[in-house]
Amino acid sequence: MRLYSLHKAAAVDLEPGGGQVFAGERVLAGRARITAKGAVVSMDGGLKTAAAKHITISAYGTGIWLSGKGLPRRLYRGKLVFSAERGRLKIINTVELEIYLAGVVSGEAGDLSQSEAYKAQAVAARTYTVTHMNNHSREGYNMCDSTHCQLYTGLGTISAKAREASDATRGELLFYKGRPASTFYHSACGGRTETMTHVWPYEHKPYLISVRDGPPGAPYCAPATGFFWKTKIYFTGLTRLARAAGWITAGEEARGLRISAWGTSGRAAELELYTRSRRVTLSATDFYHGIGRRAGWKAIRSSFYKIYQNKDHVLLEGKGSGHGVGMCQWGAEGMGRKGYNYREILQHYYPGTEIYND
Ligand SMILES: [Zn+2]
Ligand SMILES: [Zn+2]
Repeated sequence: MRLYSLHKAAAVDLEPGGGQVFAGERVLAGRARITAKGAVVSMDGGLKTAAAKHITISAYGTGIWLSGKGLPRRLYRGKLVFSAERGRLKIINTVELEIYLAGVVSGEAGDLSQSEAYKAQAVAARTYTVTHMNNHSREGYNMCDSTHCQLYTGLGTISAKAREASDATRGELLFYKGRPASTFYHSACGGRTETMTHVWPYEHKPYLISVRDGPPGAPYCAPATGFFWKTKIYFTGLTRLARAAGWITAGEEARGLRISAWGTSGRAAELELYTRSRRVTLSATDFYHGIGRRAGWKAIRSSFYKIYQNKDHVLLEGKGSGHGVGMCQWGAEGMGRKGYNYREILQHYYPGTEIYND
C-alpha cells in the first residue's frame, strides 16, 4: 500500500517505536531521515546510506513512527520501501490484511458506537479490499491510503472497537453468486440508498439496488451529523466553478440549474445548467465531484437534494452524505441501536448476498 499518497514530501523522519527496526541488514537504533533527490533516496541520522534507488526498512514490535514537514505523524509496521520520483518520496508498506482492515474500520466507523455496525463495516471493508486489490497495480502497488481506495492512517489510530470487529469477523467476505461482492458504502443515505446505475451509469450489480433505510419518516441514519443540509450557490460562483470544470466556456455565464432526471431513491441523477443561450446536461455525479473538488466536499454533501431557483442564486436543500450506493454507515449504526446484528445489517444493504469465511 502506498503511504501518504496525497502528500508530496521530499523528506520523512523516522523514529523507532520500540522493537527492532532494520534498514536493509543493519539495525536502526535512533532517529533518521530519508530524503528524496531526483530519482534516488538517501538516509542520514541514526544510520547513513549512500544515494540508492530504494531503502528498505523492516519494523517489528511496535513499529516505526513517520513524520515530517507536511506529513502527519503516523505509526507503521512491517516492510517499508522508500524510493523517489522526481524528487518526491514514494513509500510502499506491506501490511497484513487484518491489521490494514482494523485501521480502515477505525477511520471509517470512527464516529459510530455500535459493535454490530463495526462488524458490518469490517466485512464490507474486507470484501472491498479483496475486490479492489488491483486499483494501483499499474503503478506498482495494490492500494493507496486515501479515500480514493480506503482511508488508512496507520496503527497509531486503530481503536479497540475496530480491532474487535475485525477479529470477530476474521476472514469473512460477502459473496454474490459465488464471487466476492462490490461492497460500496457511504456515510448516510438520507432515508433511501440508490441503485448503482443512477450514480455510475453503465455499472450495475443486482445487490446494489435502492433500499428504503428504515420506516418512512424515521430513517435508520437519522442520527448522522449533518443529515439535513442547505447550500446557497450564487451564479457568479457557479459560473467560476462551471468554467473551471469545463461545463461552460469562458465567455458563458451560469444563470440557472435544475434537476432533469431522478434515480430510484429520489436523488438527482441528471442536471441541466443554463446559460443565456443554451442548456448543458451533466450527470449529478459529475456535478457532485466537480463542485466537491473545487469548493470542498462539504458544499454539496450528496446528490439527494431539491433545487430552489432565485434571482441571483440557487438554494440546494439536501439529505445525507456520500454517493448513496450500498451500505449506509449511519444506517448500520441505527440498525445496531435497534438490535439488528451485522449479518442482518449486511443483508439489508446488499440484498441477495451471503457471508462466507474464506
Ligand atoms: Zn487509491
Ligand atoms: Zn441511511
